[in-house]
Amino acid sequence: MATASAEISALTAAAFRTPEKFVEFCRNGGMPLGGIIDGEQVAGSMNATFQTVDPGSQEVLATVCEMGEAEVARAVAAAQRAFDGDGGSSWRNADVEERIELVQRLVELCERDRDVLLACEIRDGGKVSELAEGDFQQIRGCAEYFMGVARRIAMGDSPSVQVADGVNAFTYREPWGVVAGIIPWNYPIVLTSWFMFPALLSGNTILIKPAEDTPLSALYLGKLAQEAGFPPGVINILPGRGEITGHCIAEHPGVRFISFTGSPGVGQAILRTCDRHGTRMKREMGGNGAAIVLGDADPAVVARLIGRYANQHYGQTCCTIHRIFVDRKIADDFIDAETEFFKNLKIGYQADSGTQVGAVINPTQRHRILQAQQETIARGAKPILPGGEASVSGKNGYYVKPALFRTEPGLTVNPLEVFHTYATICPVSSAEEALRLANSSPYGLGSSVWTKDVERGVALAKQFRDGTGQVNCHNSIAYGLPYGGQGISGGPGGGVNCEETFLDYTQVKAVYVSEYPG
Ligand code: NAD
Repeated sequence: MATASAEISALTAAAFRTPEKFVEFCRNGGMPLGGIIDGEQVAGSMNATFQTVDPGSQEVLATVCEMGEAEVARAVAAAQRAFDGDGGSSWRNADVEERIELVQRLVELCERDRDVLLACEIRDGGKVSELAEGDFQQIRGCAEYFMGVARRIAMGDSPSVQVADGVNAFTYREPWGVVAGIIPWNYPIVLTSWFMFPALLSGNTILIKPAEDTPLSALYLGKLAQEAGFPPGVINILPGRGEITGHCIAEHPGVRFISFTGSPGVGQAILRTCDRHGTRMKREMGGNGAAIVLGDADPAVVARLIGRYANQHYGQTCCTIHRIFVDRKIADDFIDAETEFFKNLKIGYQADSGTQVGAVINPTQRHRILQAQQETIARGAKPILPGGEASVSGKNGYYVKPALFRTEPGLTVNPLEVFHTYATICPVSSAEEALRLANSSPYGLGSSVWTKDVERGVALAKQFRDGTGQVNCHNSIAYGLPYGGQGISGGPGGGVNCEETFLDYTQVKAVYVSEYPG
């Protein structure tokens, strides 16, 4: 058993060499990278640019044009034209096999340029290769799942039924039209895929607003979409800051539906804007995941597994574990094992072999994490590993040490999502006490139970308020099952990655038909 537990390690970097094609793409012939609107690269009328940097070194990777009100309006108009057809073939009426063929072609081009997209995740997003490679595979996984759904779900008219004397009625399902995906920085390729494929395959034309910290993968996907032969206006990429580009998208009444992934506060603010002009909105937001460790669990094994999940993308994973509730009987052994795991995580540059904790995405995030670590202590938690700034020789990145705290029931030391390898461990006297504490959070994205008694684990996992309950695993996703949040972690809609997701990108209307009187 000792050997097995030692084999459980954190996601780790292999050495990564940046491909020349990525460098060339970023260089863009000496011009800032423009947005992609109506099949063209667009510089932006605000004449504003921003730099996107490697968070592990602060090396500037590319200069990117910021899209403003005029570009958003232009993109919405182009997307609407592509949706309607403008006299030619329209995306809304394209045969599902036609859409599938283009999506397949895009996936093949992504696979051809795998190294460039990996460079986007590793260099621009700050990820270790083991995670970036898993993320890359989601492109095909997500596309293929939604191709199957698109073939299964009937769009158009339902059978007509008589609803009154001489009156028949039917419903019809159709895409919204122009829909926008507002994407965060932590999983750019994955979350762009989760938005883009169901939205496109259900017949919408799309705007993608990547996060300002990680615009490169969306811009590269936009370039590949042009090469794949998507008609102009079907896929538009609008880089820029949230308060500028994102806000203009939320303000535009021509956008019929927005899929937002990000933090709860921003999601709530966009919802209020959308509500003013009737844009529907789907929200997938942050979490503060819990793990409950029952007394029958092996503390050495479970501590390492929980550590591996908690450190996924250095804790910058929305559903991961930040609160651990462990049976008092095994608490000391568990804390010792978890401390050992956290302490030995290798901090380093994300593209260097062996790194397990790379830099966080930007200085604001670093500041927030450091403040949260101090606040946890101020609220009464005992620091086991207090965190603090870290440094990596020769690299001027935003590095932070993992943090681990011991707490007690009754202390509210960890109320907000702290987006790092950060966890509080609270010894508890019963599973019921653990469940009550786990559920005492306004978030509700993903939580887990760890036990040899799987049946009991399932019974407890079903009582989490979270959208995802897990037994002896965490950070779980599978196509066909919904991934969505409760409480402030989510909004209406069926979550992502399931049939309901596809349906969210469609609307159903009713038509009543009566014979002409007389
Ligand atoms: P964020 O909310 O700051 O930004 C998300 C996106 O919204 C970015 O593209 C940003 O530019 C844009 N934005 C910001 N202000 C805006 C505004 N006023 N109007 C329109 N758009 C605006 O989030 P972040 O820091 O980029 O991402 C981290 C958060 O995302 C965490 O809370 C994490 O848990 C959450 N997240 C959730 C999921 C999920 O599936 N539930 C997945 C990944 C990340």
